[in-house]
Parts: sequence; C-alpha cells; structure tokens
Amino acid sequence: LTDRIAGDGAAAWDIHYRALARQANGDDITILSVGDPDFDTPGAIVESAVTSLRGGATHYSDVQGKLALRQAIADDYRRQGLAVGPDNLIVTAGAQCGLYAAAQCLLDPGDEVLVPEPCYVTYEAVLRATGAEMVQVPMDGEAGFRLDPAALEAAITPRTRALLLNSPHNPSGQLIDADTWAAIAELCRRHDLWLISDEVYAELIFEGEHLCPATLPGMAERSVVISSLSKSHAMTGWRLGWVLGPEALIQHLSHLALCMLYGCPDFIQDAACDALKTPPHELAEMRETYRARRDVVCEALAGCPAVTAVRPPAGMFMMVDIRATGLSSQAFADRLLDEEGISVLSGEAFGPSAAGFVRLGLTVDAERLAAASQRLASFAERALCERDPHALPPT
Ligand code: PMP
Ligand code: GLN
Repeated sequence: LTDRIAGDGAAAWDIHYRALARQANGDDITILSVGDPDFDTPGAIVESAVTSLRGGATHYSDVQGKLALRQAIADDYRRQGLAVGPDNLIVTAGAQCGLYAAAQCLLDPGDEVLVPEPCYVTYEAVLRATGAEMVQVPMDGEAGFRLDPAALEAAITPRTRALLLNSPHNPSGQLIDADTWAAIAELCRRHDLWLISDEVYAELIFEGEHLCPATLPGMAERSVVISSLSKSHAMTGWRLGWVLGPEALIQHLSHLALCMLYGCPDFIQDAACDALKTPPHELAEMRETYRARRDVVCEALAGCPAVTAVRPPAGMFMMVDIRATGLSSQAFADRLLDEEGISVLSGEAFGPSAAGFVRLGLTVDAERLAAASQRLASFAERALCERDPHALPPT
C-alpha cells in the first residue's frame, strides 16, 4: 500500500469516539470534541430534497455540478466583489473533497505548501497524498493564534508552490484581517504562489468581517476558494461543497471529478439551490447562538486562575489555555473525560504551537455549556492544586 495515503490526524478524534461510546453506554457525557452543528438542517431544505427525490432526481448529475447551483454560488461571490460565473466553480462532496481535489490538481511531488499551525487536522494528509510537503508556520497562542505574514515570508523557498489558509480558523476561531490579507496577497504575487483559501466558517463571524482574498488585486487568477454548506446551514451530513477558481483549474478539477466522483447527488444539489435562498435571519440565528455560547464559556472561565479562554471572533470552536495546570493538553483532555464526562480535543492534534491548549466545540446548548465550563474550571483548579497545593488561596 502506498504511504502517500494516510489518515494523519485521525488519531485526534480517538477521544471523541471514546466519548461517544460512553454516551451510548448511558453515561452523561458532554461532547465538545467535534465541529458538527447540533442544529438540524432548516426544514425547507429537507423538504426541497424530498420533493426533488420524489420528482425523480435519482440519476447521474452534471459532473461539474448543476448549472443552477453553480450560478447561485457564483452570484454569492459576485456580491462579495468577485467577477466570477458558473465556469469558475465545481461542486464537490463537501469542502473536504474540494480540498483534496484542489491539492491533486495544483501540486506536484516535491512542492512545498505553507500552512500556519495549529491547523485543521486533515490538511497534512491531503497535501501528502499529492507528494507535496506541508511546511508548518507557527502561530503564537499568546497572541491569540494570529497569523504573521513575516513568518510566512520567512518560510518561502524556491519549492514553495502555495499557501493554504483558513479564516475564520479551525481550531482558534481567529480571523485574518484586511491588512494581513493585503500583505499575504503581496507575497503571493511577488513569489508567484497559489493561495488556497478554506472558508467553511465564513458565515459564522461574530466580530469583524470576512474578506475573500480572491477579491484583492491580482489574486483572482491565483486563488482557490473552498467552502461548503456544512457549517453555515447545518448540513455536515449532506456533503455539499465547492471549489472556486480560474476556469483552467476548474476544467482540470472536472477531469479529476469525472474519474473520482462523477458528480454530486442531483437531489442534494437541488436542495442546495434552495439552501442558498434561506432567509438571512435564519442563518443569523445560528450565528447568534454560537456567539452567545462563546460568551457563556468566556464568562464561566473568566475568574479561573488555572485556565484562560482565547476569545474567538468567529467560528464554532474556542481554544482554552490550560498550561497553568501543568498537564499536557492530551492528559488534560483524557482526565477531563474520565473525571468529568466532558470531551474536548487536545490542541496538539492541530499542531505543536497549540500544545498546552484544548479545543472546545460550541455545539451544545448554553445551559449545558455553562455547566460543562464550570466543571472544566473546577477540574483545572484541582489539577493546579495537585501540582502546587499553595497555588490557590484557601476558600
Ligand atoms: N475545513 C475546515 C477548516 C474544517 O473545519 C472542516 C470540517 N468542518 C472542513 C474543511 C471540511 O468541511 P466539509 O464538511 O464541508 O467537508
Ligand atoms: N471539522 C470538524 C472538526 O474540526 C469535524 C470533522 C470530522 O468529524 N472529521 O471537528
């Protein structure tokens, strides 16, 4: 078997599966270890899929994606200021498939791709499957995991082919701001690099604005934008995403899709067309719910001397600095599950710079999240006292 294909990063979710197994066993477990919205897909989208299926949408569909859907997605990007049409898009089975396909169509063995870390756990395996190499560029947890363009530039070599960036960011919820995007775009133009922009959390911004880097001068021809309905519309299980890029790349992707995917399900694409017509207030409701949950966690952890929440401006996750406890992030996560029935992911799963942090998903209701945060705080204080009995004032 080829070692180009490997589920690197899969081990990150071991603790999640342990938590699910305990839950299935009847234990009261709060699962904060996966980024799957706890909302159901809005009813109108479900109805649309059922109607389409009943209407006979059971056949092969357009390999590149239904024209009406590509047109609707293109219209959304045109509203962001991008001069694109349906020929700039291919529909894929989620953003994950889009990432994999784009990497296959852009990269050759020996290429280097710069990826700020911590980063989403599948990136390394996606890149390695092409024979290219992921070059990690550390981001500082003390600075809220903000991306420093100077650090990116310092990592560029003659083999660098692309940057793979993700804003809003998994796991930190951090946003790349307009000045940083401008500096990154300048780097891409000067060093003739592709910019792969993973924007799956773009609809979940609480403070600040999303900027699609393809809209910057000279960037449309070197940007590959990847997104999906998974998070914005609570549709993770539908597997509906897309890649947007220059027409030549999209044609190349269509050749790959022809032999890999042969089109996404017809009825799901029909439902996706209707999903894109969801009234903005319905999507805003989900976003506001995540924002309120973020605030709940920040408030619950605010007075705790053993942990520090890194307040995210976007997304559905947050990082918590647990270094004061003296535990490794894996040990913290393991003990939190064993002793408190709460599952979180170890920051280290996302990269060495997130050692000493854990990632919480904002995927349970506010009341449960408040209770879990309080238990996380008291567990952390217990761990801190084990390490140094005088660390906390007597109560
Ligand atoms: N990119 C990032 C940063 C993610 O967190 C995820 C997982 N939601 C994906 C891509 C894959 O998303 P999808 O469900 O659309 O495949
Ligand atoms: N992207 C989500 C996360 O980071 C879930 C993806 C998955 O379950 N593989 O938790």
